[in-house]
Amino acid sequence: MSFSADSPFAQAVMVSPNRGARVGGDLDTLILHYTGMPTAQGALERLCDPAAEVSAHYFVFEDGRIVQMVPEADRAWHAGAATWAGSRDINSRSIGIEIAHPGHAGGLPPYPEAQIAAVTRLARDIVFRRAIPSPRVLAHSDVAPARKEDPGEGFPWERLARAGVGHWVPPAPMRDGRFFAMGDTGQPVEALQAMLALYGYEQPVTGQFDEAMRAVVTAFQRHFRPARIDGVADASTITTLRDLIAAQPA
Ligand SMILES: [Zn+2]
Repeated sequence: MSFSADSPFAQAVMVSPNRGARVGGDLDTLILHYTGMPTAQGALERLCDPAAEVSAHYFVFEDGRIVQMVPEADRAWHAGAATWAGSRDINSRSIGIEIAHPGHAGGLPPYPEAQIAAVTRLARDIVFRRAIPSPRVLAHSDVAPARKEDPGEGFPWERLARAGVGHWVPPAPMRDGRFFAMGDTGQPVEALQAMLALYGYEQPVTGQFDEAMRAVVTAFQRHFRPARIDGVADASTITTLRDLIAAQPA
């Protein structure tokens, strides 16, 4: 059954059957994705195919056209197994935007200008209408670091933040200094884990820099310090995280 678009920026509705009722009362998160498929049309068809069992609320074409697939009141199936700030049913509390883009597998080309302008307008509309706190505008990779890398390090988070969408601070300059990497253990690793968890990442405080922690650090770098994405918690990465926590809105 069709429905009217929730956002004035959606030019069309194409109904996806892949949806259900939200569980719980909070709708406080916006998740951005890339489709990771060679063509926009193929991705849109998949998001509306009952056999695929995936969907999102909105779809943004390369040229900036926006299609709504699931009413905002409903739970779309975009985040999968995901966690943020202790919540595990991210689909119930979020709105998902799929951005047509071939992804890492397709060589991570730059996002077209018209597409970014459209994503910015749409995201701005959603966060203002739904009063979504800026630190809860997240990448799929933030909420599922071990499984996902979208929308990728080429996504212009800084530009969205300048438009009032999302939480962002200038990345600390790359410089020498103490760093932590796979295999490291001890109190400083624990302290860094506690900071990642405080910001919202699913990061147990174990004192062991293991594979799961490397994935979390990598996800953090993709979003907040994209100059080098290697899963090594260097001084710039740690300072950027500290600055972000300090700049969190009350
Ligand atoms: Zn995704």
